[in-house]
Parts: sequence; structure tokens; C-alpha cells
Amino acid sequence: MLHKQRLLTPGPTPLPESVRLAMAADMIHHRKAAFRDMMDAIGRDLGALFGTSAPVLPLSASGTGAMTAAVHGLFTPGEKVLVVEGGYFGRRWTEISLAHGLNPVILTVELGRAVTAGQVAEALDWDGEIAGVLVQHSETSTGVRHPVGDIAAVVRESRALLVVDGISAVSVMPCPMDAWGIDCLLTGSQKGLMLPPGLALIALSPRARRRSEEIGSGDAYFDLPAEFASNAKGQTHFTSPVSLLAGLRESLRLLHVAGLDNIYRKQHALARMARAGVKALGLTLFAPEDYAWGLTSILLPPGMESAPLLAAAEKNYGVVMAGGQDGEFKDRILRIGHMGYVDYADLAAGLYALARSYQDLGGYLGCRDCLEQALDAYRKALDEDMPE
Ligand SMILES: *Cc1c(COP(=O)(O)O)cnc(C)c1O
Repeated sequence: MLHKQRLLTPGPTPLPESVRLAMAADMIHHRKAAFRDMMDAIGRDLGALFGTSAPVLPLSASGTGAMTAAVHGLFTPGEKVLVVEGGYFGRRWTEISLAHGLNPVILTVELGRAVTAGQVAEALDWDGEIAGVLVQHSETSTGVRHPVGDIAAVVRESRALLVVDGISAVSVMPCPMDAWGIDCLLTGSQKGLMLPPGLALIALSPRARRRSEEIGSGDAYFDLPAEFASNAKGQTHFTSPVSLLAGLRESLRLLHVAGLDNIYRKQHALARMARAGVKALGLTLFAPEDYAWGLTSILLPPGMESAPLLAAAEKNYGVVMAGGQDGEFKDRILRIGHMGYVDYADLAAGLYALARSYQDLGGYLGCRDCLEQALDAYRKALDEDMPE
């Protein structure tokens, strides 16, 4: 065996051994006391992670299940919602809204750029009927971070509910739900949480909760009022994903032991490391300014496509990265995931694999000390204040 496989995709992400072992335990019954004890422990740590005193509900679904639960549980057909569309996942909000019979008003954002709170304010002023604002905190298709704290301050002034897709953001960047005034925050298991895919988490503010109770069961499977009722008993409405929850309990313990602030600091430093490395290699960052902390996307020069580069990086160096997701840029974007159980050494392997594969394919990247530059940026960022 020449090298290890390193999974540097923006989901799924690698799993710590203790999480894998926790998931290998035998079944416990989801309506009995041992399960309730596990749910109590999970609930306390999830509240800290989401920054909320509200319950955080687990759902058996990929992240999109929680997005669907939010749209069906908080809005009724015919209502207008404002969708921030800055990439593939922004468009998913539109698709889910349309499928539910909502009337989405689309705020298109240039790919690679963040929306501004001013743009959201303008859209809300212009149309007083908007019942909800749907946004990503981290638009994983482009590697952009949208300013959710600023957006929340604007949306709070209106009657609209702010619904935040925090998949690839929760446990990667601070997103304090109550302090910022987010009405619905949701995430999925396979990004920053160091778990396999298949578990989604969702929390509602008091006003969103009232709205959800008014609407009642918006969907037979994703039934938020029923989930709240079960959650109060330490259960889930249907049979629980017991093994994933056992893994979640362990991953939350790991996050807690490390300290959430230290995790955010590490994530930010990894983003700075990736950006310094990419720049030193003479490549272009796809998100030049407002960047997410869990992945870095690169715009490849004309003539170099992502697919052969990814294949070479995997085959020759054992590093698995991802391509683009959006139409015109699909083959021109390469995304390095660095969230969850990924550290500076994994990312160094990723940058090395990127540079070497590029040369294996006959491209030229001139940089003798780009790994050093990347690691310097990492160390420096660990000592600096994190951006707001
Ligand atoms: C990964 C991701 C999703 C999709 O999640 P699934 O688990 O594939 O349903 C949605 N939004 C964002 C921002 C993501 O990163």
C-alpha cells in the first residue's frame, strides 16, 4: 500500500475512530430509558452547538430532508418566500419551495460572491408579502459564506422568518441561532459533524415554532409538531436512527472536549491555509472575499478541467477532492473540503496532491515553497482574531 486514502470532499467527511466505534454498538430500543438518556445528553450539547435554548430535533434524512421539513412546516402553498440563490444549494431552496406550491422570489447573487444584508433589506422593503427568507450560511457549491448575522438583523425587522441552511456551516463557523435571531437553523450529519450521511438536525425560534403549530403537520413524514412532541419525551416521531445518534453523541463529546471556539479557530485557520496555498500555486480562488471556513473552491485556468485532476489526485496521491456543481463552472471548479475531522496535515496532503497532479497532467505550477507558505498562514491564523 503506497498511501492512505484521504477524504477531502465537502461532505461526506472522515470519521474519528471513536465515532465509528460508538456507531458499532448493539441496538438499544428507541422507546426505552437508555435511549432517552442518550437523547438528553445529545440535546444539551446540540443546544450549545446551535446556540439556542430551543430543542434541536433529529430527523432521519439527509440534509435536504431538514430543508424540506422547514419549507413544509413553516409556509403554506401560495405564500411568498425570498430565496438567496448564489449557487447549487440556493437553487435547492427554490426547487423545494416550488414543489410545495410556494411563490419564490429569487435574489440572484453572482457565483463566488456573498449576498449583502442591504440586498435582502431592499427585497423585503419592495415586497411586503414575503413570509420567509431562505439562505445558506455556507454555499458549498462555491465556497462562499453569506453574512447570516447581518441578514438576521434585517429580517428581524420584518414579518418574515429567516431560515438558514447551516449544512457545512454548523460546527464549522459560529452561527449562534438565538443571539443572531435566526428562526430556523438546520444541518446535516456528514459535513462538520464528523458523522456518516443520513441524519439531519433542525431547530426553530419561538415565533417559528408558533407558526409551525398553526400550520400543523405540513407533511406526513416531516411533521415538526409531532417531532417536538416526541422530542419532549426523549424520542423521535418514527423509529430513530439509533446508530447515527450514538455516533452524534460521541462527535458532540469530541467537539465539547476540544471547545467550540477552538474548533472554529482551527476551521478558519485551515481556510486561510488553503487560500494561501492556492494563491502561492498561482491558481485563482473562486470566492475571492467572503469565504466559507469548511471548504475552498478553486477556479481552474482554461484548458485544465477538474475531472482528470481529481482522478490523478485520487489515483496517484490518495486524496479525494470534489469538482464543481454549477452549470457553466462544473468542470472548472475544484473544491477541497477541510471541515470536521481534517487537520493541517491532511490539508497539506491535499495541496501537495493538487500541485503534483497538475504537473502530472502536463500543467505548470511554479512554487517551491507553497506548502511552507500555506502552513505559515495556518499558524498565523491560529494566533489571530477570527473575523466576525
Ligand atoms: C451538502 C449540502 C446540502 C445537501 O445535503 P444532503 O445531505 O445531500 O441532502 C445542502 N446544503 C448545503 C449547504 C450543503 O453543503
